[in-house]
Amino acid sequence: MVPLQKVMNFIDGKKVNGEQALMDVISPINGQKISSLPLSTREDLDRAVAAAKKAFLGWSSLTMKERVQFFFRYRTLLQQNIEELTELVHIENGKTIEESKAEVLKSIELCEFAVSMPQIVTNEIQEVSKGVECRIERKPLGVVACITPFNFPNMVPHWTAPNALVLGNTVILKPSELVPLSALKMAELLKEAGLPDGVFNVINGGKEVVESICDHPDIKATSFVGSTRVAKIVYKRASSNLQRCVALGGAKNHLLVLPDANSDMTANNVVASMAGCAGQRCMAASVMVGVDRVQHIIDKMVEEAKTIIPGENLGSVISKEAKERIEGYISEAEKQGAKILLDGRNATVPGKEDGFYVGPTIIDHVKPDMAVAKEEIFGPVISIIRAKDLDEAIQIENASNYGNAAAVFTQSGGLANRVIKGASAGMIGVNIGVPVPREPFSFGGWNESKFGVGDITGKSSIEFWTQNKKTTAKWNPEDKRDWMS
Ligand code: NAD
Repeated sequence: MVPLQKVMNFIDGKKVNGEQALMDVISPINGQKISSLPLSTREDLDRAVAAAKKAFLGWSSLTMKERVQFFFRYRTLLQQNIEELTELVHIENGKTIEESKAEVLKSIELCEFAVSMPQIVTNEIQEVSKGVECRIERKPLGVVACITPFNFPNMVPHWTAPNALVLGNTVILKPSELVPLSALKMAELLKEAGLPDGVFNVINGGKEVVESICDHPDIKATSFVGSTRVAKIVYKRASSNLQRCVALGGAKNHLLVLPDANSDMTANNVVASMAGCAGQRCMAASVMVGVDRVQHIIDKMVEEAKTIIPGENLGSVISKEAKERIEGYISEAEKQGAKILLDGRNATVPGKEDGFYVGPTIIDHVKPDMAVAKEEIFGPVISIIRAKDLDEAIQIENASNYGNAAAVFTQSGGLANRVIKGASAGMIGVNIGVPVPREPFSFGGWNESKFGVGDITGKSSIEFWTQNKKTTAKWNPEDKRDWMS
């Protein structure tokens, strides 16, 4: 096992701590304390922002081709350190080793997109009238902040920081206080890759430091990924302080299953989507809308889900509170008359009795007005709502306040197309349960799953992390003026 260190802030290329209050870091695998982190204050943030502001001058004056060289080296370091990075995700978040490794591999892919930026971010120039040229260049914003959630401690910081940095900004990362270890390792590896001091900083803590980020006059843009409740707070507060902001929130993803779907593939995909990462994915299947006669697929789902065993191929949920919340939702649905086909309550893992485990849970005959049908549960639980036809299924999907992802399972292109057109969600899957767009396509939901313009990754992120400089130049001294002078 990786020897765990006390988490510190990372400011101006150094690990530093002050006199802040400390918070315990608990591994959800076994409920044991594994580290502690500082609950930073506005003063700590001020120091990080001052370092990032100072570093911005040198960093932004490099060419993009020079800046990506650091990320070629960093990508190699991610590969060389993959076992340790995997272990950190596993121990602080609780997901399985395989899922943790997949997360780090995704971070490597995100770096590959970042290093491709010089091929994508080409500026424009045109002779708009004789001897007069217009030019548009993308320029960085300055110091920017990235606030991240607990469920992908390694990947979500890589959604934002590499792109923001390659585009010339300097960054303050505020990771979730529940999973601070991966973020500190990221800072160490970026330093090893040669990133100049102050270009990337990590500030630990909770609500207080997030509010300070939103209020800080020297932070030009803030990206946020987390729950809808906090996304709303951050979006409103950062925007009202004149920062650019994109804030990704929670999800309640609907999978519409039609009777003609391939039953093995559908059962496998739906169950993998709801139980992968213990259901703690913003792309997880949360509601299955079974259209007409799909009992044969539901039966297969139950068989498939029975092969998912807590502590073996199913990780823990993040905390005791999360376990209680998830089990509370299941109990409430049962009381309201829904049928529990597979019950994951009271799961324990031998030797890890103090860990926070919930087994895979399938709840049938859920009504659209029940809490399990409407609210984000964020655990390995799927609610099945029965619909008589596809129109009713689409209406059920559309009624959700969220809109991260939706998927359809069918062999019919025509029916799939009706869902592609009709679903009110930013990311649509056809016969795929976790429809995450791969780079260079961008990631982002609709409705209460995202606030702000554009998406957070891929090409869309280029717009978010830059501003356009427009230059008009005249090179025809013989023409004293033209109609637009
Ligand atoms: P969270 O909203 O509790 O925390 C996210 C961040 O906000 C953390 O860094 C935390 O320190 C900070 N924070 C928490 N409470 C705050 C408050 N009152 N004021 C200011 N800051 C506060 O989210 P989480 O529990 O860490 O993550 C799970 C949530 O994230 C789920 O809702 C999930 O759907 C969502 N998520 C969404 C996406 C997406 O792409 N839409 C991706 C990953 C996770």
